[in-house]
Amino acid sequence: MKSPRKSPRIAVIGAGAIGSTTALALAGEGADVTIYDRFAPPHGYGAHAGESRLLRTVPYLEKTPGEAALLVQGLEGWERIEKEAGRPLITRCGGLIIDDSSSERLAALDLSSAAGVESLTRNAVGERFPQFEVGPEQSAVFDARAGIIDPAAAVEAALELAASRGARCRFNERVHDLRPVDGGVEVRSASGTETYDRVVLAAGAFSAGLEPGLPMYARRLLLGWFTPRPGMEHLLEGCPSFVWTPEPGQFVYGGRSYDGRTLKVGIDWDWGAVTDPASQGREVAESDREAMQESVRALLPWLDPVGDRFEMHIDGWSEDKIGFLGERPDRPNIILATAWSGYGFKLAPALGETAARLALGKEPGIDIEPLSPNRRPVSAPAP
Ligand SMILES: Cc1cc2nc3c(=O)[nH]c(=O)nc-3n(C[C@H](O)[C@H](O)[C@H](O)COP(=O)(O)OP(=O)(O)OC[C@H]3O[C@@H](n4cnc5c(N)ncnc54)[C@H](O)[C@@H]3O)c2cc1C
Repeated sequence: MKSPRKSPRIAVIGAGAIGSTTALALAGEGADVTIYDRFAPPHGYGAHAGESRLLRTVPYLEKTPGEAALLVQGLEGWERIEKEAGRPLITRCGGLIIDDSSSERLAALDLSSAAGVESLTRNAVGERFPQFEVGPEQSAVFDARAGIIDPAAAVEAALELAASRGARCRFNERVHDLRPVDGGVEVRSASGTETYDRVVLAAGAFSAGLEPGLPMYARRLLLGWFTPRPGMEHLLEGCPSFVWTPEPGQFVYGGRSYDGRTLKVGIDWDWGAVTDPASQGREVAESDREAMQESVRALLPWLDPVGDRFEMHIDGWSEDKIGFLGERPDRPNIILATAWSGYGFKLAPALGETAARLALGKEPGIDIEPLSPNRRPVSAPAP
């Protein structure tokens, strides 16, 4: 009689958005999985902090066909996690993508087969969504399935489900080093060294510390919460989530916040980078606040630009703003699933499933070549 095949021992480093969903996918496949985190997720040091994340089914910041293919799978993954966890995670408010009518990114969209997606002229945006005074050359796409997810609650739910399926969680245990050895990878953590068959590295902005020479950095991103000006409160109601390129190179995003009285706004701006996301970069300087207030005053004049509160968060960024998914030739058995450059949350369950397939030695199911950590960065990245 054949002895049953031993399932591979897999470690996932980082239990944020991508690590939690990778562990869930691996545990669902019956793999022997251990997930490490230097803190106890969800927590305020991860890219999953900051109250909410936007979900979409229409590609906009996604630049490769592989990522676009993962978008709907990502949304449906979060919907499944929400259902299985039995508590609400997603606010289904729809989402607008606003850009120049002639922009390559709007033009590239094939909306013919997309469910619940419609193109809106400038006038139609003005009538249906008076919150956005779009420019004369601008138009929009409305994605009815888009919405907002609570990232901390979502990570917590994914981890609970992973643990209930057998994943071992080692939290408050920092991994210091990953070393490929014959037939596996040594994971050196605060409590010793263990050898696994494969490792998935999903340590977000901290990943470069465990992957020497990986071309990525830890980038600061400011969020602000703004109340409507007196008499404008009605505009908050019915405000969809949005991503908006008011002019080339400028990028604003946001949506209603859970407090019911503010709009949360993020602006893609050079807020700077840090070398240690655990100890640096969270403070909000007066100049940071002023830059955001100026944009809000110009673009969303129905809001009081003073702002209710501000938070600085940090995400892992690659040079061409495209995430990494795959192995480096000189670091076998370490699968990178990191550097998702400000747009990884919506994709996380799909990235987790793909990373899990790679860790189990299966075909990824999408073309991951453009996501390879060995690629040459593409030039002239869009915001
Ligand atoms: C302000 C802001 C707004 C964003 N808005 C959106 C949005 O609207 N929609 C969207 O899709 N995406 C958005 N993103 C991007 C998205 O949130 C991230 O791409 C995604 O959360 C990254 O997930 P991650 O698992 O890579 O990182 P994280 O969630 O940060 O998880 C990494 C984990 O690794 C752990 N770790 C680090 N080092 C070690 C170590 N040495 N040992 C053990 N554990 C370690 C950390 O403690 C952390 O828990 C936004 C990001 C930010 C910061």
